Amino acid sequence: KPLVIAVDGPSGTGKSSVSKAVARALSVSFLDTGAMYRALAWSCLNDGIDPSDTARVAEHCRTLDLAMGTDPRSPTVSVSGRRIDREIRSEEVTAVVSAVATNLDVRADMLRRQRELIAEGVALKGGTVAEGRDITTVVAPDAPVRILMTASEEARMARRSKQLKVAVEQTRSQIIDRDRADSTVSQFTTAADGVVTVDTSHLNFEQSVQAVLRVVKE
Ligand code: C5P
Repeated sequence: KPLVIAVDGPSGTGKSSVSKAVARALSVSFLDTGAMYRALAWSCLNDGIDPSDTARVAEHCRTLDLAMGTDPRSPTVSVSGRRIDREIRSEEVTAVVSAVATNLDVRADMLRRQRELIAEGVALKGGTVAEGRDITTVVAPDAPVRILMTASEEARMARRSKQLKVAVEQTRSQIIDRDRADSTVSQFTTAADGVVTVDTSHLNFEQSVQAVLRVVKE
């Protein structure tokens, strides 16, 4: 049977790296949906499109030549054949990604792309681990495994600042601002009906992976 694993949660919970490791352990595809919104944000900046110009951003998204490599051993993101894996993690992109992700036409277009990619993983590898903010509720509400990954604010800030190699205080306001902007679109901090919560506050990476794999096996 198709193994679709939907993982939602805010940043700093270990969601992305844990989901990738789970996909590797199960030999299925991995889809980082946040990277898709980041790719669009990067492309807008690269083409001089104002991220808050909703009509232009929506049109740009419709024609965006976005390719997601879903091998969990080396996931890739390309726009018009150019690899932009590093570029999409920049501060410039992070600062404007919520603006393009709250665009409803963009979300409708991304929803279609994400469902196609999840189905492709099922067809080719028997399953997909998809992670983001609205996977358990909107993109794959019928997935047999749905998980909300949470962590205390302290744990999230500590992980994020370690990842970005900057001071905790500097990350705090950025993360809080982005969570607030994102929450206007979907509620990803409380588990929807039937969604299992995995709190990683006191778990290390390996323990978090094991916790998710236990939910999968239930
Ligand atoms: O997870 P990551 O920080 O890479 O996500 C980047 C942004 O993409 C989020 O801040 C959010 O605005 C958007 N996003 C979304 N829906 C998803 C995944 C990400 O709106 N399913």
